[in-house]
Amino acid sequence: MKVSQILKNSSKTQVSFEILPPLKGNNIEAIYAALDSLMIFNPQYVNVTYHREEVVYKQHPSGLLEKKVVHKRPGTIGISAALKYKYGVVVVPHIICGGFTAEETEEALVELNYIGVHNVLAIRGDADKNTRMFMSENGGHTYAIDLVKQIADLNKGIYLDEELQEKTATNFCIGVAGYPEKHNEAPNFNSDLDVLKQKIDVGAEYVVTQMFYDNAHYFRFLDRCQKAGINVPIVAGIKPISIINHLNVIPKTFNVEIPEQLEKLIRNCKSNEDVRNVGIDWSTNQSEELIKSNVPAIHYYTMGKSDNIVKICENVGF
Ligand code: FAD
Repeated sequence: MKVSQILKNSSKTQVSFEILPPLKGNNIEAIYAALDSLMIFNPQYVNVTYHREEVVYKQHPSGLLEKKVVHKRPGTIGISAALKYKYGVVVVPHIICGGFTAEETEEALVELNYIGVHNVLAIRGDADKNTRMFMSENGGHTYAIDLVKQIADLNKGIYLDEELQEKTATNFCIGVAGYPEKHNEAPNFNSDLDVLKQKIDVGAEYVVTQMFYDNAHYFRFLDRCQKAGINVPIVAGIKPISIINHLNVIPKTFNVEIPEQLEKLIRNCKSNEDVRNVGIDWSTNQSEELIKSNVPAIHYYTMGKSDNIVKICENVGF
């Protein structure tokens, strides 16, 4: 089932969960344990993030630094297949530009097609932590729109290798990312919306938003999108705050604002447990308002933790 169909056909707000592949060396059982507790809410689909390689520097006793490239969270395609067949749920692996040549992207898409996964979220990926600038691979894509174009081409049977004799068209439903508070690299809202509109025009069928902590940002974004001629479903991204450090990390990493009231509530907490409960209450209130407004779906960013998301879903009656 295509996610775009799920979103268009449903008369009530749907729920989806975004999970991370475990750190290399860990077992997939941790994912199953998290999902076992979330599957009772009947998610219409589950997203699996993709994590590009990281450059780390190892210091030798001589003082010399050795540069190493490591994939800390591999396995997006394998996990997507495992979840699809274990739970019978629609899975949406993320496909990113970063770290991939166009040829490698095509291979990943062919592989997904073989295992019967026909939904993807096409995104650029973040900048390298060391360079702070997004660098594409030689022969890779610089922007998500180029990735969307490649997938849309494959849906028309256009492969990179023009010499192919047999060219089976794929049937991917493509989702893309949108930013209610603007992407941090975009010079202004209008240019960011132009980019989003272009991603839709070349083949994306729905949008998933960056997390936000004030629903007013989401509703303003819907309005802006409508005025810009973006008429596809816009799924609301929610990530509960669960540790005090999120107050520093989340605004910096994701370019989102933490409302004063939420910050105050968290700073008044006496324990980690209190912080977690404030996060649950805040996301519950956000979710209730979004459901009342009949948003197509809420996409919960689990970031490897499911107990707080379970509580929120129970609270709102998913
Ligand atoms: P793009 O759409 O390419 O936009 C990036 C920036 O470039 C924006 O500022 C945009 O305005 C600008 N831009 C785009 N096209 C052009 C153009 N043609 N000319 C000039 N400027 C342009 N990251 C991961 O690494 N793995 C994940 O699994 C992952 N999942 C995510 C899921 C969701 C729902 C969201 C919202 C984000 C996710 N991210 C993930 C983070 C994402 O990779 C970053 O936010 C990234 O910085 C931007 O991705 P994008 O697809 O929006 O990029």
